[in-house]
Amino acid sequence: MKAELNKYAEEFKARINKASSVEELTALASELNSKNSPIRQALKSLGDCPPEERKTLGALANSIRDELAAELDKKQGSTGGSKEVNAASFDMTMPGTGTEIGSIHPLYSLIYDLNDAFAQLGFQVYRGPDISSEAFDFDSLNFPQLHPARESMDTYWLDGCAGKVGGERLALRPHLTGASVRFMLDNKPPFRFVYPGQAYRNERTDASHERAFFQYEALIVDREVPFSTVRLMVDTILERVFGRPVKTRMRAGFFPFVEPGFEIDMQCLVCGGKGCSVCKRVGWLEIMPGGPAHPNVLRAGGIDPKEWQGQYVNFGIERILMMKYGIDDLRHFHSGDLRFLKQF
Ligand SMILES: [Zn+2]
Repeated sequence: MKAELNKYAEEFKARINKASSVEELTALASELNSKNSPIRQALKSLGDCPPEERKTLGALANSIRDELAAELDKKQGSTGGSKEVNAASFDMTMPGTGTEIGSIHPLYSLIYDLNDAFAQLGFQVYRGPDISSEAFDFDSLNFPQLHPARESMDTYWLDGCAGKVGGERLALRPHLTGASVRFMLDNKPPFRFVYPGQAYRNERTDASHERAFFQYEALIVDREVPFSTVRLMVDTILERVFGRPVKTRMRAGFFPFVEPGFEIDMQCLVCGGKGCSVCKRVGWLEIMPGGPAHPNVLRAGGIDPKEWQGQYVNFGIERILMMKYGIDDLRHFHSGDLRFLKQF
């Protein structure tokens, strides 16, 4: 039996070498995999063999089959063959390779959770474009020309916009706030909406800075929007995100598009406010800026600041996740490293 198999292998190899077309190779592949091929016959007859021969004969038949299939593949490559040969040599009885099912990226998972939480408070979800302009991202947001705050948000300006200004000068948005003006121009107050997305900055990356990162911003415009409303909203959202009540505090901060601006800190969840390495021994972590919309911004959005008030809040998505899971380097989120991502 072994001698017959070896002979068959030699002959079959010769036929592969002689074959000069894809059709011939396809036919050979079908023959090799057919029920009547001597290899299949040998494998089928293993049950009748004496036990001592069974192992060696089985191994020989399998190795010849693999060898011939490899020869066919090789020849197919040099003949410029197509998938047909592969299809013919496909063995349905072999165990398949498993498909790994992915999951939602932790950044998006948090964004979806926030969308749900805000929707319950009556907010719409809006999406602004990633490529925006100097007009929306600076001029309409009360950044005076040549103001140093424009420098701190230096972004990636698009080629071909040199010498242009305002709406003609395009950039990857350095923050989301420009999208709020687009929304205001298209909608009549009162309204409340959120607009998640990526922002881009031209800066050196380190553990807490990235050239692209996710923000989540909310704007309420109504006749009156007191600070207490914002505070309650933020506390409600944070409790939802962290799954337990979180202590917060508000303090003054500067951003050109709000007046007066504030920063909201949350009590460190790691040490409960006593001070630890995560909160740099302060007990509090800065998590979001915000404030009442500056009258110039409302005007840019076509809204009369004498009639309407606005309140902005901006969440740093990566920052909240870093705190929630104790992650020490922001760059992990954008690394595409499955060892990191599989933990969520
Ligand atoms: Zn702490």
